[in-house]
Amino acid sequence: MPALFLGHGSPMNAIEENQFVQGFRATGRELQRPAAILCISAHWETKGTWVTAMESPRTIHDFGGFPPVLYDQQYPAPGSPRLAEFISETVLTTTVQHDHSWGLDHGAWSVIKHMYPQADIPVIQMSLDVNKSPKEHYDLAKELQVLRNRGILIVGSGNMVHNLRRVDWNRLNDTYGYDWAEEASEKMKRFIATRDHKAMIDFHKQGSAFDLAIPTPEHYLPLLYTLGLQGAGEQTTLFNDQYLAGSLTMTSVKIT
Ligand code: ZN
Repeated sequence: MPALFLGHGSPMNAIEENQFVQGFRATGRELQRPAAILCISAHWETKGTWVTAMESPRTIHDFGGFPPVLYDQQYPAPGSPRLAEFISETVLTTTVQHDHSWGLDHGAWSVIKHMYPQADIPVIQMSLDVNKSPKEHYDLAKELQVLRNRGILIVGSGNMVHNLRRVDWNRLNDTYGYDWAEEASEKMKRFIATRDHKAMIDFHKQGSAFDLAIPTPEHYLPLLYTLGLQGAGEQTTLFNDQYLAGSLTMTSVKIT
C-alpha cells in the first residue's frame, strides 16, 4: 500500500465541499482498497505510544465553537483489536500499549470519511508520544513498514505549516501564504523531493520561517511518520498543495 500524509486543516472540511475534500476523495478512489487503516493524528498526544484497540471506536468531536451540524457527524468505522495486537508485537523498540477510551479524533475521521465514505474499512489510531524526539518518531515509522505489505494504509494527519495564532481570520478560505509560510513550505517540499529527511527531522534547526511554521510539533510530526515509511525506490507525489489563510498549508504527500 502507499503511505499518506494528509493536511487536514479545519474540522469544517468534514462537511464542506471544497478542493481539499475533492483531493482526499480522488486519492481514495485511486488507491486499492486497504484491509485496514492506521492513522497517526496530530490530535492524539500521550505519554508513551498507544494504539486504539476497541471494536467500535467512537467519533470524537475534539474542537469547539463550530456549528451544531458538525457535532452531529458520525464516522462509524469498525476498529481492529487484531491489528492493534499485531502492531504491539511488531514494534520492538518501544512498548505500544492498547487504548480503550480514545476513538477517532477529527484528525482521522474528518479526512478519512472523504476517502472511504462507507465507513466500512477498520480504522485504528496510534498516538504521538510527547516524550519522543523527532528522530524517534521517524524511526518508529520504519518499524511499521511491514504493515504496508499486509494491505494496511498508513495515514499521517496534520499540517506541514500550521500556526493558528497567525491565521488571517478575515480571509479563512483564501489560498495564500505569508512570506514566512511560503519560505518554510517551499523548503519542506524541496527537502521531501530530494529525500533530505535529516533536514526534516532537524526542523528546529531550519531558521525562523520554520519556527513560525511549526510553533508546536504535533501537526508536523505525523509527516515524519509518512517520510519514515518511504522505501528506497519509492517516489513522493504532492496533492492539495495550497496555502490557506496565511499561516497554514494543506499540502499532502503520497508515497508510492
Ligand atoms: Zn488539526
